Amino acid sequence: MQPDDPAIRWVREPELGLAGRMYLPAVFQGLTTTARHLMAPKKTVQFPEERPEFGNPLIYRGVHRLNRDEQDRVQCVACFLCATACPAHCIDIVGAESPWPDREKYPQSFTIDELRCIYCGMCEEACPVDAIELTSLFDLTGRSREEMMFDKEKLLSVYDQTKDTEPMRTRGGPQPPAPAAATPPAESRGRPAP
Ligand code: SF4
Ligand code: SF4
Repeated sequence: MQPDDPAIRWVREPELGLAGRMYLPAVFQGLTTTARHLMAPKKTVQFPEERPEFGNPLIYRGVHRLNRDEQDRVQCVACFLCATACPAHCIDIVGAESPWPDREKYPQSFTIDELRCIYCGMCEEACPVDAIELTSLFDLTGRSREEMMFDKEKLLSVYDQTKDTEPMRTRGGPQPPAPAAATPPAESRGRPAP
């Protein structure tokens, strides 16, 4: 693509006035957000006697699980997309030829270092078959680092533990809240879809 290609829409950096150059609008915006949170109602939960409630478990990113398919097999097809997307490099997969005729590969081993994970949810987003999901289990404890290395069996057991309260999204589980309709910024309007 050449710089004079008509498909390119060049965007000029907006000129800042004196207030903008002194960051005053940004500071005011930050203070408004702080004030809004100061005034918002607070809820204190006496954990562990009381457990917090999540209206929609999908807004929480807790312990991972590996989902099972309808035949109780691991749903994962060992495509490595989650491991590739993971910014903390805490997913380790060993793929092998699948013993089942409906897929090429399956994970011979699948390990997540739960202590290294930053619970960003990128693995869940990347998975093409919804095999990995983050649950609302948050009180994760272990007495050693080894205990916090979740292998395939442990990840499948998290699925068994949570499947009734948090069904898989693709099987009618709770859906994330619909994003608010956003007006695209002026400079992006009219840009051809990628
Ligand atoms: S939640 Fe984020 S950091 Fe944790 S395993 Fe998934 S992609 Fe990696
Ligand atoms: S969990 Fe999903 S993204 Fe990760 S290897 Fe398995 S199928 Fe691929």
